[in-house]
Amino acid sequence: MITQYSGISPKGDLILLHKLGEKLNNRSFLHINSTRAGGGVAEILHRMIPLLKDIGIDARWEVIEGDERFFDITKKIHNSIQGNFENITEDMWHYHYEVNRINAERLNLDADAILIHDPQPAPLIEFRKSGIWIWRCHIDFSNPIKESCDHLLRYCQKYDAAIFSVAKFARAVGIDEFIIPPSIDPLSEKNIELTNEEIIQTLHKFQIPHDRPIILQISRFDRFKDPIGVIKAYRLVKKYNDSILILAGSPATDDPEGEIVIKEVQDYASDDPDIYILLLPPFSDREINALQRAATVVLQKSLKEGFGLTVSEAMWKGKPVIGGATGGIPLQIVHGVTGFLVHSVEGAAFRIRQFLNNLEMTKRMGEKAREHVRNNFLITRQIRDYLSVWYAMEN
Ligand code: UDP
Repeated sequence: MITQYSGISPKGDLILLHKLGEKLNNRSFLHINSTRAGGGVAEILHRMIPLLKDIGIDARWEVIEGDERFFDITKKIHNSIQGNFENITEDMWHYHYEVNRINAERLNLDADAILIHDPQPAPLIEFRKSGIWIWRCHIDFSNPIKESCDHLLRYCQKYDAAIFSVAKFARAVGIDEFIIPPSIDPLSEKNIELTNEEIIQTLHKFQIPHDRPIILQISRFDRFKDPIGVIKAYRLVKKYNDSILILAGSPATDDPEGEIVIKEVQDYASDDPDIYILLLPPFSDREINALQRAATVVLQKSLKEGFGLTVSEAMWKGKPVIGGATGGIPLQIVHGVTGFLVHSVEGAAFRIRQFLNNLEMTKRMGEKAREHVRNNFLITRQIRDYLSVWYAMEN
Protein backbone atom coordinates (compact mmCIF):
# COMPACT_ATOMS: atom_id res chain seq x y z
CA MET A 1 0.00 0.00 0.00
CA ILE A 2 2.53 2.59 1.10
CA THR A 3 4.67 1.60 -1.88
CA GLN A 4 1.90 2.96 -4.12
CA TYR A 5 2.82 6.43 -2.88
CA SER A 6 6.31 6.28 -4.25
CA GLY A 7 6.63 8.73 -7.13
CA ILE A 8 3.67 10.66 -5.68
CA SER A 9 4.61 11.68 -2.12
CA PRO A 10 7.95 13.37 -1.39
CA LYS A 11 10.73 10.81 -1.11
CA GLY A 12 11.88 12.18 2.25
CA ASP A 13 8.44 11.63 3.78
CA LEU A 14 8.39 8.02 2.63
CA ILE A 15 11.89 7.37 4.02
CA LEU A 16 10.88 8.87 7.36
CA LEU A 17 7.67 6.85 7.40
CA HIS A 18 9.65 3.70 6.75
CA LYS A 19 12.14 4.49 9.53
CA LEU A 20 9.46 5.50 12.03
CA GLY A 21 7.59 2.31 11.12
CA GLU A 22 10.71 0.33 12.02
CA LYS A 23 11.18 2.18 15.32
CA LEU A 24 7.54 1.75 16.28
CA ASN A 25 7.17 -1.73 14.77
CA ASN A 26 4.30 -3.76 16.24
CA ARG A 27 3.55 -1.02 18.74
CA SER A 28 -0.13 -0.18 19.15
CA PHE A 29 -1.68 3.11 18.01
CA LEU A 30 -5.33 3.71 18.89
CA HIS A 31 -7.46 6.44 17.30
CA ILE A 32 -10.80 7.36 18.84
CA ASN A 33 -13.41 9.73 17.39
CA SER A 34 -17.18 9.96 17.44
CA THR A 35 -18.29 8.90 13.97
CA ARG A 36 -17.38 6.20 11.49
CA ALA A 37 -18.77 8.14 8.51
CA GLY A 38 -19.25 11.75 7.51
CA GLY A 39 -16.82 14.57 7.98
CA GLY A 40 -13.15 14.95 7.28
CA VAL A 41 -11.90 13.16 10.42
CA ALA A 42 -13.62 9.89 9.52
CA GLU A 43 -12.60 10.24 5.89
CA ILE A 44 -8.92 10.54 6.76
CA LEU A 45 -9.04 7.74 9.37
CA HIS A 46 -10.51 5.33 6.83
CA ARG A 47 -7.44 5.88 4.69
CA MET A 48 -4.86 6.26 7.43
CA ILE A 49 -5.44 3.07 9.47
CA PRO A 50 -4.56 0.64 6.64
CA LEU A 51 -1.46 2.70 5.80
CA LEU A 52 -0.29 2.64 9.42
CA LYS A 53 -0.75 -1.14 9.46
CA ASP A 54 1.15 -1.40 6.24
CA ILE A 55 4.24 0.19 7.78
CA GLY A 56 4.14 -2.25 10.68
CA ILE A 57 2.11 -0.40 13.28
CA ASP A 58 -0.68 -2.12 15.13
CA ALA A 59 -3.26 0.58 14.40
CA ARG A 60 -6.84 0.51 15.63
CA TRP A 61 -9.78 2.87 15.25
CA GLU A 62 -12.60 2.95 17.81
CA VAL A 63 -15.71 5.12 17.83
CA ILE A 64 -17.52 6.26 20.96
CA GLU A 65 -21.24 5.65 21.11
CA GLY A 66 -23.85 8.02 22.48
CA ASP A 67 -27.52 8.83 22.25
CA GLU A 68 -29.20 11.88 20.78
CA ARG A 69 -28.84 13.81 24.02
CA PHE A 70 -25.10 13.18 24.05
CA PHE A 71 -24.63 14.44 20.50
CA ASP A 72 -26.84 17.48 21.15
CA ILE A 73 -24.55 18.32 24.04
CA THR A 74 -21.35 17.72 22.09
CA LYS A 75 -22.67 19.87 19.23
CA LYS A 76 -23.16 22.66 21.79
CA ILE A 77 -19.65 22.12 23.12
CA HIS A 78 -18.31 22.21 19.57
CA ASN A 79 -20.12 25.49 18.82
CA SER A 80 -19.05 27.16 22.04
CA ILE A 81 -15.42 26.15 21.58
CA GLN A 82 -15.66 27.86 18.18
CA GLY A 83 -16.92 31.00 19.88
CA ASN A 84 -20.75 30.80 19.70
CA PHE A 85 -22.49 31.10 23.02
CA GLU A 86 -24.41 27.99 24.11
CA ASN A 87 -26.03 27.33 27.44
CA ILE A 88 -24.27 24.19 28.69
CA THR A 89 -25.41 23.27 32.18
CA GLU A 90 -23.44 21.30 34.82
CA ASP A 91 -25.85 18.48 34.16
CA MET A 92 -24.89 18.39 30.50
CA TRP A 93 -21.19 18.36 31.28
CA HIS A 94 -21.85 15.52 33.68
CA TYR A 95 -23.70 13.60 30.96
CA HIS A 96 -20.79 14.18 28.57
CA TYR A 97 -18.51 12.61 31.16
CA GLU A 98 -20.92 9.74 31.98
CA VAL A 99 -21.31 8.65 28.35
CA ASN A 100 -17.54 8.62 28.04
CA ARG A 101 -17.28 6.57 31.24
CA ILE A 102 -19.65 3.96 29.80
CA ASN A 103 -17.64 3.93 26.56
CA ALA A 104 -14.43 3.48 28.53
CA GLU A 105 -15.85 0.27 30.02
CA ARG A 106 -16.70 -1.06 26.57
CA LEU A 107 -13.59 0.00 24.68
CA ASN A 108 -10.15 -1.51 24.94
CA LEU A 109 -8.10 1.56 25.82
CA ASP A 110 -4.84 -0.31 26.10
CA ALA A 111 -2.35 1.01 23.57
CA ASP A 112 1.11 2.52 23.34
CA ALA A 113 -0.22 5.75 21.83
CA ILE A 114 -3.79 6.99 21.95
CA LEU A 115 -4.97 9.83 19.72
CA ILE A 116 -8.32 11.26 20.82
CA HIS A 117 -10.05 13.33 18.13
CA ASP A 118 -12.01 16.46 19.13
CA PRO A 119 -14.04 17.28 22.26
CA GLN A 120 -16.62 14.44 22.11
CA PRO A 121 -14.32 11.70 23.49
CA ALA A 122 -11.97 14.06 25.40
CA PRO A 123 -13.09 12.80 28.89
CA LEU A 124 -11.74 9.32 28.06
CA ILE A 125 -8.44 10.59 29.45
CA GLU A 126 -9.91 10.02 32.93
CA PHE A 127 -9.75 6.29 32.20
CA ARG A 128 -6.23 6.08 30.85
CA LYS A 129 -4.39 2.90 31.62
CA SER A 130 -1.21 3.04 29.64
CA GLY A 131 0.55 4.79 26.81
CA ILE A 132 0.96 8.33 25.54
CA TRP A 133 -2.32 10.23 25.30
CA ILE A 134 -2.61 12.96 22.69
CA TRP A 135 -5.63 15.21 22.15
CA ARG A 136 -6.14 16.08 18.49
CA CYS A 137 -8.25 19.21 18.02
CA HIS A 138 -9.62 19.71 14.50
CA ILE A 139 -11.70 22.77 15.31
CA ASP A 140 -10.97 26.44 15.89
CA PHE A 141 -10.02 26.79 19.57
CA SER A 142 -8.69 30.35 19.25
CA ASN A 143 -11.66 32.24 20.64
CA PRO A 144 -13.84 29.95 22.78
CA ILE A 145 -16.62 30.83 25.20
CA LYS A 146 -14.77 30.92 28.54
CA GLU A 147 -16.97 28.55 30.58
CA SER A 148 -16.84 25.81 27.94
CA CYS A 149 -13.14 26.31 27.50
CA ASP A 150 -12.51 25.97 31.25
CA HIS A 151 -14.55 22.78 31.41
CA LEU A 152 -12.87 21.18 28.44
CA LEU A 153 -9.40 22.22 29.53
CA ARG A 154 -9.82 20.22 32.71
CA TYR A 155 -9.64 17.16 30.47
CA CYS A 156 -7.18 18.49 27.89
CA GLN A 157 -4.59 19.37 30.50
CA LYS A 158 -4.36 15.74 31.56
CA TYR A 159 -3.12 14.70 28.12
CA ASP A 160 0.58 14.44 27.31
CA ALA A 161 0.27 16.62 24.22
CA ALA A 162 -2.22 18.48 22.04
CA ILE A 163 -2.28 18.81 18.26
CA PHE A 164 -4.01 21.62 16.36
CA SER A 165 -4.59 21.96 12.60
CA VAL A 166 -3.62 25.58 12.09
CA ALA A 167 -1.45 27.79 14.32
CA LYS A 168 -4.13 30.45 14.62
CA PHE A 169 -6.68 27.87 15.86
CA ALA A 170 -4.41 26.78 18.72
CA ARG A 171 -4.58 27.81 22.34
CA ALA A 172 -2.15 27.45 25.18
CA VAL A 173 -3.28 24.34 26.97
CA GLY A 174 -0.27 24.06 29.24
CA ILE A 175 0.99 20.80 27.74
CA ASP A 176 3.20 20.16 24.71
CA GLU A 177 1.48 21.52 21.61
CA PHE A 178 2.03 20.74 17.94
CA ILE A 179 0.59 22.07 14.68
CA ILE A 180 -0.26 19.39 12.16
CA PRO A 181 -2.46 20.46 9.22
CA PRO A 182 -4.93 18.02 7.67
CA SER A 183 -4.22 16.32 4.38
CA ILE A 184 -5.73 14.72 1.31
CA ASP A 185 -5.15 11.24 -0.02
CA PRO A 186 -3.95 11.36 -3.63
CA LEU A 187 -5.07 7.74 -4.13
CA SER A 188 -8.64 8.11 -2.85
CA GLU A 189 -11.61 8.21 -5.23
CA LYS A 190 -11.80 11.95 -4.70
CA ASN A 191 -8.28 12.62 -5.89
CA ILE A 192 -7.17 9.73 -8.07
CA GLU A 193 -6.33 10.46 -11.72
CA LEU A 194 -9.34 10.17 -14.06
CA THR A 195 -9.52 9.70 -17.79
CA ASN A 196 -10.77 12.57 -19.94
CA GLU A 197 -13.59 10.33 -20.97
CA GLU A 198 -14.83 9.98 -17.39
CA ILE A 199 -14.58 13.73 -16.85
CA ILE A 200 -16.68 14.43 -19.96
CA GLN A 201 -19.17 11.71 -19.02
CA THR A 202 -19.64 13.31 -15.62
CA LEU A 203 -20.38 16.66 -17.25
CA HIS A 204 -22.92 14.94 -19.53
CA LYS A 205 -24.52 13.27 -16.54
CA PHE A 206 -25.17 16.68 -15.01
CA GLN A 207 -26.07 18.12 -18.45
CA ILE A 208 -23.27 20.64 -18.28
CA PRO A 209 -21.78 21.73 -21.62
CA HIS A 210 -18.02 21.75 -22.00
CA ASP A 211 -17.74 24.37 -24.70
CA ARG A 212 -16.79 27.22 -22.35
CA PRO A 213 -14.53 27.67 -19.32
CA ILE A 214 -16.01 26.35 -16.10
CA ILE A 215 -15.80 28.23 -12.81
CA LEU A 216 -16.45 25.91 -9.86
CA GLN A 217 -17.06 25.99 -6.14
CA ILE A 218 -17.62 22.71 -4.26
CA SER A 219 -19.05 23.29 -0.78
CA ARG A 220 -21.75 22.47 1.65
CA PHE A 221 -24.53 25.03 1.22
CA ASP A 222 -23.53 27.17 4.14
CA ARG A 223 -23.45 30.99 4.29
CA PHE A 224 -19.85 30.92 5.52
CA LYS A 225 -18.90 29.44 2.13
CA ASP A 226 -20.45 32.56 0.52
CA PRO A 227 -22.27 30.94 -2.43
CA ILE A 228 -24.15 34.19 -3.10
CA GLY A 229 -20.82 36.06 -3.24
CA VAL A 230 -19.64 33.51 -5.81
CA ILE A 231 -22.68 34.22 -8.01
CA LYS A 232 -22.13 37.97 -7.65
CA ALA A 233 -18.52 37.59 -8.74
CA TYR A 234 -19.58 35.39 -11.65
CA ARG A 235 -22.09 38.01 -12.81
CA LEU A 236 -19.31 40.60 -12.94
CA VAL A 237 -17.12 38.19 -14.91
CA LYS A 238 -19.85 37.12 -17.31
CA LYS A 239 -20.19 40.63 -18.74
CA TYR A 240 -16.81 40.09 -20.39
CA ASN A 241 -16.06 36.35 -20.37
CA ASP A 242 -18.48 33.74 -21.67
CA SER A 243 -18.28 31.04 -19.02
CA ILE A 244 -20.23 28.60 -16.88
CA LEU A 245 -20.60 28.59 -13.10
CA ILE A 246 -21.07 25.38 -11.11
CA LEU A 247 -21.96 25.45 -7.43
CA ALA A 248 -21.97 21.87 -6.21
CA GLY A 249 -22.55 20.49 -2.75
CA SER A 250 -24.62 18.32 -0.52
CA PRO A 251 -27.37 19.68 1.60
CA ALA A 252 -25.71 19.07 4.98
CA THR A 253 -27.87 16.56 6.84
CA ASP A 254 -26.90 17.82 10.28
CA ASP A 255 -27.52 21.45 9.35
CA PRO A 256 -31.15 22.61 9.31
CA GLU A 257 -30.05 25.88 7.68
CA GLY A 258 -28.77 24.02 4.61
CA GLU A 259 -32.18 23.83 2.92
CA ILE A 260 -32.75 27.55 3.45
CA VAL A 261 -29.38 28.43 1.97
CA ILE A 262 -30.01 26.24 -1.09
CA LYS A 263 -33.29 28.06 -1.67
CA GLU A 264 -31.54 31.43 -1.29
CA VAL A 265 -28.90 30.40 -3.80
CA GLN A 266 -31.45 29.04 -6.29
CA ASP A 267 -33.51 32.22 -6.02
CA TYR A 268 -30.45 34.39 -6.43
CA ALA A 269 -29.25 32.45 -9.49
CA SER A 270 -32.77 32.94 -10.83
CA ASP A 271 -33.15 31.53 -14.32
CA ASP A 272 -29.59 32.07 -15.53
CA PRO A 273 -29.04 29.01 -17.75
CA ASP A 274 -25.27 29.19 -17.26
CA ILE A 275 -25.41 28.69 -13.50
CA TYR A 276 -25.57 25.04 -12.50
CA ILE A 277 -26.53 24.33 -8.89
CA LEU A 278 -25.86 20.66 -8.25
CA LEU A 279 -27.20 18.97 -5.14
CA LEU A 280 -24.86 16.03 -4.82
CA PRO A 281 -25.83 12.89 -2.95
CA PRO A 282 -23.39 11.67 -0.28
CA PHE A 283 -20.51 9.57 -1.61
CA SER A 284 -20.11 11.64 -4.77
CA ASP A 285 -16.33 11.50 -4.54
CA ARG A 286 -15.66 10.54 -8.14
CA GLU A 287 -18.10 13.15 -9.43
CA ILE A 288 -16.44 15.84 -7.31
CA ASN A 289 -13.08 14.68 -8.60
CA ALA A 290 -14.31 14.97 -12.21
CA LEU A 291 -15.85 18.41 -11.67
CA GLN A 292 -12.64 19.72 -10.11
CA ARG A 293 -10.69 18.37 -13.07
CA ALA A 294 -13.16 19.85 -15.59
CA ALA A 295 -12.93 23.33 -14.09
CA THR A 296 -10.71 26.10 -15.42
CA VAL A 297 -10.90 28.13 -12.23
CA VAL A 298 -11.82 26.87 -8.77
CA LEU A 299 -13.16 29.12 -6.03
CA GLN A 300 -13.39 28.67 -2.29
CA LYS A 301 -14.70 32.08 -1.44
CA SER A 302 -15.29 31.32 2.22
CA LEU A 303 -15.92 34.09 4.74
CA LYS A 304 -15.04 31.74 7.60
CA GLU A 305 -13.32 28.40 7.19
CA GLY A 306 -11.76 25.54 9.07
CA PHE A 307 -8.94 24.23 6.95
CA GLY A 308 -10.77 24.09 3.62
CA LEU A 309 -9.84 20.69 2.22
CA THR A 310 -11.52 21.50 -1.09
CA VAL A 311 -8.68 23.93 -1.74
CA SER A 312 -5.98 21.26 -1.59
CA GLU A 313 -8.19 18.86 -3.53
CA ALA A 314 -8.46 21.29 -6.43
CA MET A 315 -4.81 22.34 -6.22
CA TRP A 316 -3.76 18.69 -6.41
CA LYS A 317 -5.59 18.57 -9.75
CA GLY A 318 -3.45 21.39 -11.07
CA LYS A 319 -6.00 24.14 -10.52
CA PRO A 320 -4.98 27.45 -9.03
CA VAL A 321 -7.63 28.35 -6.47
CA ILE A 322 -9.14 31.74 -5.62
CA GLY A 323 -9.93 31.60 -1.92
CA GLY A 324 -11.17 33.79 0.89
CA ALA A 325 -8.30 34.84 3.16
CA THR A 326 -9.61 32.96 6.18
CA GLY A 327 -8.92 29.88 8.34
CA GLY A 328 -6.52 27.41 6.74
CA ILE A 329 -6.93 28.78 3.20
CA PRO A 330 -3.87 31.11 3.37
CA LEU A 331 -1.73 28.11 4.33
CA GLN A 332 -2.64 26.48 1.05
CA ILE A 333 -2.86 29.47 -1.26
CA VAL A 334 0.43 31.28 -1.54
CA HIS A 335 -0.91 34.54 -2.96
CA GLY A 336 0.21 35.08 -6.52
CA VAL A 337 2.07 31.76 -6.61
CA THR A 338 -0.39 28.89 -6.09
CA GLY A 339 -3.57 30.98 -6.41
CA PHE A 340 -5.04 34.23 -5.14
CA LEU A 341 -6.45 35.25 -1.78
CA VAL A 342 -9.43 37.58 -2.00
CA HIS A 343 -11.41 39.75 0.41
CA SER A 344 -14.38 40.83 -1.72
CA VAL A 345 -16.70 39.97 -4.60
CA GLU A 346 -14.87 42.46 -6.81
CA GLY A 347 -11.53 40.94 -5.88
CA ALA A 348 -12.79 37.47 -6.74
CA ALA A 349 -14.18 38.66 -10.09
CA PHE A 350 -10.92 40.42 -10.93
CA ARG A 351 -8.88 37.25 -10.23
CA ILE A 352 -11.28 34.98 -12.12
CA ARG A 353 -10.89 37.20 -15.18
CA GLN A 354 -7.15 37.26 -14.76
CA PHE A 355 -7.12 33.45 -14.96
CA LEU A 356 -9.61 33.20 -17.82
CA ASN A 357 -7.71 35.76 -19.88
CA ASN A 358 -4.33 34.20 -19.32
CA LEU A 359 -4.55 30.45 -19.57
CA GLU A 360 -0.78 30.11 -19.74
CA MET A 361 -0.47 31.73 -16.32
CA THR A 362 -3.37 29.61 -15.04
CA LYS A 363 -1.55 26.46 -16.09
CA ARG A 364 1.74 27.59 -14.59
CA MET A 365 0.18 28.50 -11.25
CA GLY A 366 -1.79 25.25 -11.29
CA GLU A 367 1.44 23.30 -11.56
CA LYS A 368 2.89 25.22 -8.60
CA ALA A 369 -0.33 24.56 -6.69
CA ARG A 370 0.03 20.82 -7.22
CA GLU A 371 3.64 20.88 -6.03
CA HIS A 372 2.67 22.88 -2.95
CA VAL A 373 0.11 20.20 -2.05
CA ARG A 374 2.59 17.44 -2.82
CA ASN A 375 5.09 18.94 -0.39
CA ASN A 376 2.71 19.88 2.38
CA PHE A 377 -0.76 18.40 2.33
CA LEU A 378 -0.64 14.72 1.41
CA ILE A 379 -1.67 12.00 3.83
CA THR A 380 1.85 10.57 4.02
CA ARG A 381 3.07 13.85 5.57
CA GLN A 382 0.29 13.75 8.13
CA ILE A 383 1.10 10.16 9.17
CA ARG A 384 4.79 11.13 9.34
CA ASP A 385 3.90 13.99 11.70
CA TYR A 386 1.69 11.86 13.97
CA LEU A 387 4.35 9.21 14.31
CA SER A 388 7.03 11.84 14.92
CA VAL A 389 5.04 13.31 17.80
CA TRP A 390 4.48 9.87 19.31
CA TYR A 391 8.15 8.93 18.93
CA ALA A 392 9.38 12.26 20.28
CA MET A 393 7.07 12.09 23.29
CA GLU A 394 8.45 8.69 24.23
CA ASN A 395 12.11 9.46 23.80
N1 UDP B 1 -17.61 17.51 0.00
C1 UDP B 1 -18.34 16.43 -0.43
N2 UDP B 1 -19.58 16.64 -0.93
C2 UDP B 1 -20.11 17.87 -0.99
C3 UDP B 1 -19.38 18.98 -0.54
C4 UDP B 1 -18.11 18.77 -0.03
O1 UDP B 1 -17.87 15.28 -0.39
O2 UDP B 1 -21.24 18.00 -1.45
C5 UDP B 1 -16.28 17.26 0.52
C6 UDP B 1 -15.17 18.08 -0.08
O3 UDP B 1 -14.69 17.48 -1.27
C7 UDP B 1 -14.15 18.07 1.07
C8 UDP B 1 -15.04 18.08 2.29
O4 UDP B 1 -16.29 17.56 1.90
O5 UDP B 1 -13.40 16.87 1.05
C9 UDP B 1 -15.25 19.48 2.84
O6 UDP B 1 -14.15 19.86 3.59
P1 UDP B 1 -13.75 21.37 3.78
O7 UDP B 1 -12.62 21.38 4.74
O8 UDP B 1 -13.52 22.02 2.46
O9 UDP B 1 -15.06 22.08 4.38
P2 UDP B 1 -16.08 21.71 5.56
O10 UDP B 1 -17.30 21.15 4.88
O11 UDP B 1 -15.40 20.73 6.46
O12 UDP B 1 -16.38 23.04 6.19
